[in-house]
Amino acid sequence: MKKKIFQSIAITSIIFVTIAYLLCAFFFYNDISKNIRLTLKTETNALAKYYNEDPSVFLETKFYSDSRITLINADGNVLYDSQYDSNSLINHSNRPEFVDAVNFGSAERTRYSDTLNETTYYYALRLNDGSVLRLSTIANSALTIMIPSIVPIMFILIIVFIVCLIVARFLTRKIIDPINHLNLDIPLANDTYPELKPLLENLNYHNKIRKEFSANVSHELKTPLTSISGYAEIMANNLQGDNTQEFSQKIVDESKHLLRTIEDIIKLSKLDEGTVQLDYDQINYQEVLHQVLRSLSDYANLNGITLVDNSVPVTGRAVSQIVYEIFYNLIQNAIKYNTRNGHVWIDMKERGKFVEITIKDDGIGINDIDKERIFERFFRSDKSHSSQIEGTGLGLAIVKHGVEFHHGTIVVDDYLNHGSKFTIKLKR
Ligand code: ADP
Repeated sequence: MKKKIFQSIAITSIIFVTIAYLLCAFFFYNDISKNIRLTLKTETNALAKYYNEDPSVFLETKFYSDSRITLINADGNVLYDSQYDSNSLINHSNRPEFVDAVNFGSAERTRYSDTLNETTYYYALRLNDGSVLRLSTIANSALTIMIPSIVPIMFILIIVFIVCLIVARFLTRKIIDPINHLNLDIPLANDTYPELKPLLENLNYHNKIRKEFSANVSHELKTPLTSISGYAEIMANNLQGDNTQEFSQKIVDESKHLLRTIEDIIKLSKLDEGTVQLDYDQINYQEVLHQVLRSLSDYANLNGITLVDNSVPVTGRAVSQIVYEIFYNLIQNAIKYNTRNGHVWIDMKERGKFVEITIKDDGIGINDIDKERIFERFFRSDKSHSSQIEGTGLGLAIVKHGVEFHHGTIVVDDYLNHGSKFTIKLKR
């Protein structure tokens, strides 16, 4: 975290220092060049006035100026140059500032020389007799002006770097300290950053679920065990009378229920932990569905339920063991919470990156209040409790986990006014 805070502060500061430096250099250089051009213009105008009064006096005058003064006649021949011998200079008739001055009265030009790394400013003015007076001056390029200030800038950057290190260390400690002192047992009791509120609420929710789950697990295991030990105790004391057969059957039923609950808890915690190696394979969802239908066909026949398979083959990458568990629980529920001579319809089709499976039944249905809760662990609707339908209340929790594991969704709706319809989408 310290590294991250340091990096953020350091990068931002360095970017800002560099931008500020470049902006200053740009404005500074702009100002210099504006001043040069203005001086050049003023000087040219003054000299032009002097020339127009008497050209011969002008030609005899010796000028002490930093600017180069060039007098060019209307044909472009150089009559006078303050820095070069005018005879050695070639005809200037094609120089842009000369051409413009002849045509428009005055002209301004700036030429940059890559090789010399300098910029030459020109100002040319047409004189009364048609000749042109041109003044020019040389200035260093922006880069040359900036070079001397590189060392102080580097120095500033090093200071910024050190300050960032100190600030980062201080900030990290200030930010991290309250986090290290959070009371994770009572997350909502912490008075800390508002930004941590969603995290703490999430933690609180999970703590609640964990506590409820432990309480439920104990309850769900204790109930059948109490009956088993009760019946066993009666039989151990030989108090069962003629009920040996009935009591032994009760012990068998309760132990089976206990075993199923334990198996479901193990499946859920495996999915919860995510530590178990679950391998993705290329699977055919329809084949998995057919396996499930085969193993549930006797159960369906026994309850007089017709299974209608409308699936088509769909392939994708998935953990076949989990897909099997999803299909098994949903179809088993559709049979279990049905009425005699009822139906279960199964559709399966490809939907882009997803496979969509719908399991519909014309059974007892789920009321709207229960629909909100059926995916909770150990939730069983009153209907299923009162009608003594065997179950652990963990099947749909396993389904939901399995669907989330495959980055999918599950939706429950009513079907035919009295049945239920579960639609799941699994990412292929
Ligand atoms: P179990 O079936 O072991 O009780 P589940 O988690 O599979 O647990 O289901 C939770 C509850 O949802 C069931 O007790 C039942 O009330 C309801 N339920 C699930 N599937 C159906 C269905 N197809 N029709 C009606 N009720 C259902």
